[in-house]
Amino acid sequence: MDTDIDWGKLPFGYYPTDYNVRCTFRDGKWGAVEVSQSETVNLHIAATCLHYSQEIFEGLKAFRGKDGKVRIFRLRDNAKRIQDSARGILMEPVPTELFEEMCIKAVKLNERFIPPYGSGASLYIRPFEIGLTPRVGVKEADEYMFIVLVTPVGPYFKSGFSNTNICIMREYDRVAPQGTGRWKVGGNYAASLAAGHRAHEMGYSAVLFLDPKEKKYLDECGPANFYAIKDGKYITPMSDSILPSITNDSLMVLAREMGMEVERRHITVDELEEVSEAAACGTAAVCSPIGEIDDIDTGKKYVISKDGKPGPITTEFVRRLEAIRHGEEPDTHGWITIVE
Ligand SMILES: *Cc1c(COP(=O)(O)O)cnc(C)c1O
Repeated sequence: MDTDIDWGKLPFGYYPTDYNVRCTFRDGKWGAVEVSQSETVNLHIAATCLHYSQEIFEGLKAFRGKDGKVRIFRLRDNAKRIQDSARGILMEPVPTELFEEMCIKAVKLNERFIPPYGSGASLYIRPFEIGLTPRVGVKEADEYMFIVLVTPVGPYFKSGFSNTNICIMREYDRVAPQGTGRWKVGGNYAASLAAGHRAHEMGYSAVLFLDPKEKKYLDECGPANFYAIKDGKYITPMSDSILPSITNDSLMVLAREMGMEVERRHITVDELEEVSEAAACGTAAVCSPIGEIDDIDTGKKYVISKDGKPGPITTEFVRRLEAIRHGEEPDTHGWITIVE
């Protein structure tokens, strides 16, 4: 059955699909993979995911290519990262093969929701894991559920690739210096909501958080990584409180291929004076170019884009990555899983 979705207008939101795929860890082992048509989960009222935030997730995408094939971008890397997240907050890691099998199954079962080539839309895959065991005392669960849902999402830039402005705010930290920032934990998002809301109210698309220990170095950019181009080099913050973005990792590879030097290091706020491009990067947008960064505590404004347009390097990054993800340029890094 076909859908009558207007793919180009879909938001980045939840759109119901036909099936999701689930697996439960119980009695020390992962059970059978189950296909569900239900959009809800039945939880114990004292489950650890509800009380002590044992919840981790991933976000990746599947694309329909010009050749009609469906490609998932960096499936294995997302499997590895959710295992790191699981170990970080004492949850049961989902084996790589199980993760891959369940993501592929969820994509195939919902094939009619994979947007057509050229629409700019894609199928977002959201694997997540929750602790099920009832606890009142603080302790990790023994039982876990891993679920993969998929939902079609529209192109990130509805009215064309364009800059947004972001702000630096010292009033809030997203995570603690040796905390959970390096893992994809739902709780990190809870901790970032108030800052994000304030920024949106002031007309900014995101908060550029500073490192939570010294408040000297650039850290995470809202729910995305940050990079800049300085003297022709690709620079991106290195910190224990940043989630290792797979998009950022891919861009570092592309940057080197384009002949640029790549530096992962501390970046001070005043270095923003000397950058020629800056962007937030992540699965949702690939790159979201930044026009201006306003430090709301000092009143200082860093104008990144002099002509108001996205920079040439960021534009080329997006073009290349999109070409690889749609099978228009060869996958020389083993980033693509073709769904047969
Ligand atoms: C998911 C996420 C990112 C981006 O990671 P990608 O793998 O590129 O999608 C960056 N920062 C945070 C905090 C995230 O949760």
